[in-house]
Amino acid sequence: MNLLYPFAKRFIAGPDLKTAIPNIRKIKESGYFSSIDILGESVSTRQQAETAKMEYLKLFESLDSINHSFDFSIKLSQLGLGIDREFCAENLRQLAEAMGNHTIRLDMEGSAYTQGTLEICEAVHRTHPHIGQAIQAYLFRSKNDVRHCIENKISVRLCKGAYKEPSDIALQSMDEIRTNFLELAYQLLKEGHQPAIATHDESLLVKLLDFITQEKIAPESFYFEMLYGVRRDLQKILKEKGYRVRVYIPYGKAWLPYTLRRLVEKKENLLFVITHLFRETLGLRKLH
Ligand SMILES: Cc1cc2nc3c(=O)[nH]c(=O)nc-3n(C[C@H](O)[C@H](O)[C@H](O)COP(=O)(O)OP(=O)(O)OC[C@H]3O[C@@H](n4cnc5c(N)ncnc54)[C@H](O)[C@@H]3O)c2cc1C
Repeated sequence: MNLLYPFAKRFIAGPDLKTAIPNIRKIKESGYFSSIDILGESVSTRQQAETAKMEYLKLFESLDSINHSFDFSIKLSQLGLGIDREFCAENLRQLAEAMGNHTIRLDMEGSAYTQGTLEICEAVHRTHPHIGQAIQAYLFRSKNDVRHCIENKISVRLCKGAYKEPSDIALQSMDEIRTNFLELAYQLLKEGHQPAIATHDESLLVKLLDFITQEKIAPESFYFEMLYGVRRDLQKILKEKGYRVRVYIPYGKAWLPYTLRRLVEKKENLLFVITHLFRETLGLRKLH
């Protein structure tokens, strides 16, 4: 699977902290906010969850030294959600305590983890209000979850959703997902607590910018958020229009599942990988 690394490199800041730090610094120096994610998910032992927690603490200490205003993103399955809920919640509490006012936003994973993630988010948020939550527009339940987060002043990052979910719980057509995304985004922009609108979809962004202008939504009341290495052109345009743009920056050695999700999101990605594999096989890379 190392053959996929040339592709993965575009989407991750590096395989380890040392490589990632200069890239994180570059994002900051270019005028973006950032949310840093240490890659990893679905751990199966307590030791792995402890290790993930320690890695976040080490990251936090390293970043303090570059005085960066940053957020963190984390998957609760990385902190042991699939092992024991209370153990996972306690790991998150410890991170929240250590990280003070920095936001820790919980990524939303496959639907097996949705309810558990939301319950832990709400429980830890009561004592640590800097915990935020990602919500996926493709899930039927998300309308209620967004409403609930608004009522509880939980900061939401709205995305379309990156997992394959069945039709009894999730919208399947892109048109319907877009419609739901817009509905939820409008609601968050008007009533949410520092929401992040996470999409690179130009058709949505055009409508969102119109809405923001019409409704006189203050640029400092929300963020646009995009993935590291994806649509840097749009990131720059939005930043130059005066909006706050946050870049989701993943790094770490467990890059494969994240990369595979990015791979299937765009036809051209698949072509890139196939072409690369052919070139490797034929040895053409040696000519460059
Ligand atoms: C900041 C952020 C955080 C996220 N967090 C989560 C989460 O917690 N849980 C979750 O399930 N999903 C998450 N996602 C992923 C999200 O659900 C979508 O799968 C992903 O963003 C693609 O949807 P899109 O809205 O960008 O639109 P799309 O229609 O998929 O893409 C619009 C355009 O963006 C570009 N683009 C998008 N993806 C790629 C790619 N992989 N490679 C190259 N170009 C691309 C292309 O130009 C494409 O035409 C997150 C996304 C973002 C931006």
